[in-house]
Amino acid sequence: MAPRRVLLVVDTPAVLAHTLPLLERLNQDGQWQVQVAASPSAAAAISLSTWSALTGQPAKMLTELSSADLQRTQLIMMAPVSPEFLRALATDGTLNSWTLISRCPILAAPIMPGYNVGGIHDVSDISNNDIEANVFPPNLEILRSGRQSLSLGSLGRFRLASPEYCFESLVAAFTPQDLMDLLILLTAGPTIEDADPARFISNRSTGRMGVALAQAAARRGALVTIVHGPMSWPVPDAPGIKAVPVRSAQEMCDAVLSDVSTADIAVLCAAVADYMPIAYSREKIKKGTESTFSLLLKRTPDILATLGALPRKPYLVGFAAETQDLEANATTKLRQKNCDLLCANDITEDGSGFAVPTNRLTVFYADGRKVNLPQLNKEKVANLVLDLIRKENPPI
Ligand code: C5P
Repeated sequence: MAPRRVLLVVDTPAVLAHTLPLLERLNQDGQWQVQVAASPSAAAAISLSTWSALTGQPAKMLTELSSADLQRTQLIMMAPVSPEFLRALATDGTLNSWTLISRCPILAAPIMPGYNVGGIHDVSDISNNDIEANVFPPNLEILRSGRQSLSLGSLGRFRLASPEYCFESLVAAFTPQDLMDLLILLTAGPTIEDADPARFISNRSTGRMGVALAQAAARRGALVTIVHGPMSWPVPDAPGIKAVPVRSAQEMCDAVLSDVSTADIAVLCAAVADYMPIAYSREKIKKGTESTFSLLLKRTPDILATLGALPRKPYLVGFAAETQDLEANATTKLRQKNCDLLCANDITEDGSGFAVPTNRLTVFYADGRKVNLPQLNKEKVANLVLDLIRKENPPI
């Protein structure tokens, strides 16, 4: 595949903390050709020759950008940029001339000084007034989110879309937005059922399949809420993904029910614990003298079955991890829980199940159809499952 050509406009000394990880992520991905254009303060923090060495492309000062540089680029990313500098480039016509010459989208991740100090926005913040007053060209998108604040010593506190958020925005900009009209609710990861302050019941789910679904759906334009238990596979900080961390099955059920009314599609791939201790002991349970010990358990709420029984249920997709009689178990589950689609995998098979990068799913439909998907990495499997969902839910 031809590399995607990005012009990366950088400003402020925050490039040291922000742009270097972004470049590393782009380099890892191997699909990008990045040319850096630096403001004076960015070039003072990292020299042009170093920028060139980091990207393999000749870095330039912003003022030296040529029409040929702009015509070549498929997307302009400004990360990071100070609000003052961004506004100046808008008011002196630079952004408009870039737009005219390059005819490409511009994504900007402004640094917001004092953004989250007591909820009071700094005067230099990019405000909705700027956007409403048409200070910026319509092809400029402001990247505002980002779960982490950068704390840069003497530079103070900043709120800035994280390098990961910027990377995901870039990927989404190059991905066909075929799920743009869908609100998708996902569950992922294990749940933890506490027995006492030290002990709990859980399982080996890492959450990777659910995270892969969230990431793939958001890259394709869906708005995703992922309700997840404690996972070793983190939810990416990405446009279109809202993460709702929970611990127990009951908490997961409550969070899902409070979000389900707006969801078009619900995909439940959490490995919910089936049982929880009948009571939580505030004191650590002491060991006795007997050689055996029993802990009384009760059923957790079945979230999938609860959604399946709703009068106005979303299009409902379940998962089933089986060790035997895959087809019989999967189709029974599909009917009992009133799913539209059930994705089943045999976790005893090599490369299919918990804590491995790949999965092989058989997908069962409520009307009796069945599709065998090949064994692929979970990211590819996620896209195939989303293709099947899209096919059953065509855009209106
Ligand atoms: O019955 P089983 O646990 O095999 O069903 C698996 C499917 O049901 C998965 O989609 C899982 O996320 C969902 N499930 C649930 N709540 C439970 C148990 C399973 O939503 N308590």
